[in-house]
Amino acid sequence: MSDPKKVKNSIRTQVKKIGEAGKAIENKNQEKGKIKSAKKFHHLYGPVPSRRLGYSLGVDLLPFKTCTLNCLYCQLGPTRKKTIRRKSFFSEKQILEEIKEFLKTGVRVDFITFSGSGEPTLNKSIGRLIRKIKKITDIPVAVLTNSTLLTRADVRKDLLAADVVVPSLDASTQEIFKKVNRPHPSLEIEKIITGLVNFRKQFQGQIWLEILLVRGVNDSSIHLQKLKKAVEKIDPDRIHLNTVVRPPAEKSAKPLLPKEMEKIKEFFGEKAEIVANFHKKEQEKTPADIAEAIISMVQRRPVSLEDLENSLGLTREQLSLSLHRLLEAKKIKIVSHLNRDYFELV
Ligand code: SF4
Repeated sequence: MSDPKKVKNSIRTQVKKIGEAGKAIENKNQEKGKIKSAKKFHHLYGPVPSRRLGYSLGVDLLPFKTCTLNCLYCQLGPTRKKTIRRKSFFSEKQILEEIKEFLKTGVRVDFITFSGSGEPTLNKSIGRLIRKIKKITDIPVAVLTNSTLLTRADVRKDLLAADVVVPSLDASTQEIFKKVNRPHPSLEIEKIITGLVNFRKQFQGQIWLEILLVRGVNDSSIHLQKLKKAVEKIDPDRIHLNTVVRPPAEKSAKPLLPKEMEKIKEFFGEKAEIVANFHKKEQEKTPADIAEAIISMVQRRPVSLEDLENSLGLTREQLSLSLHRLLEAKKIKIVSHLNRDYFELV
C-alpha cells in the first residue's frame, strides 16, 4: 500500500477499531455491573490474564517508569527516573482503598501482583501494603522485582509476607550487568546475588527466578555457566527463562530462537521452563499502531494513563513504550494536576 492517503485511512480504521474494542470491553464490564467505574482505580490495572499468575490484578506503586535499572529490553521504554532511593510515592491508604473497592466488584482475581511502572520495592510502603492485603483477602500476593534492592535487610523483610516473589537475574558479572540492565551506578551484581541468597534463606514462599536472555549480550556459554552457578546458590523454586518477545526499549535488543531457548532450558535443569511467548498474537498491535491511538485521544483532551488503559483496552505495559516514544519525539508532554499526571499534545 504505497498511496499515502490509503495508508493514513488504514491507520485511522485501525485506530478506530482499537478505540471501539476498548469501549466494548468497558461497556461489557459496565453491563455486568461489576466494574462501576474503572477510572477510579489509579493504582490498579487488569486483571491481566497471564500464564504464570492467572488473572493478575496489577498494583502499580510508582510514578511512570521509576526504576533502579534501565534494561535494554524493557517493554516500558527507557527509565525516566533511575534511582535507588526508597520513597512512599503515593498515599498507602488510597492504594489499599482501591484494592478493597476492586475486590468488592467480584471480578476474578487469581493473584494480586505488585509490578507496573518500574521497580516496586522502591516504594517503601510495599511491606505494609502486602501485610494489610493479607488481612483482607485470601488471594495470593506476588511481587515482580528486579532483585537490586534485595541487598537491603528492610526490603527483604518487606517481601516476607508475599506468597510468590518473581525476582530477575540476567547477569552474573558486573560487565554483563552493565550491558543488559544498565544499572544505577551504585549497584553491584555480586551483592545482588548475595541478597537473593539471603532472601531465599528467610522467605517461606515460592521464588520463581526469571532470566531474560538477549542475543549476543548475556547468552554466551561462558556467561550461562557463571549464571547457572549463581542460580544454584540462590536455589529458587522455579527458573523462568525469557527472551525479548515484546517490543524492547532498544531496537538492538534481539530475542533468541525457540530452539536456542530449549537448549538453555535443558542446561538449567528440571526447575527451568520457558515463559517467553513466541506466539504472534501478543505482538499484533505494534508500538506505531498504539501511538496513533494515543495521539487520537490526547488531541481531544489531556488524558491520564488510566484513561488510556480504559479507553483503548490496553495494559500499561502495552502502552508504555509508545508513550515513551511520543514523549521523546516531543509529540506529547506530561503535565501534573492535583497530584496526577496527564498526557497532553505539545
Ligand atoms: S525491565 Fe523491569 S527492571 Fe528493567 S528497566 Fe524495565 S522496569 Fe526496570
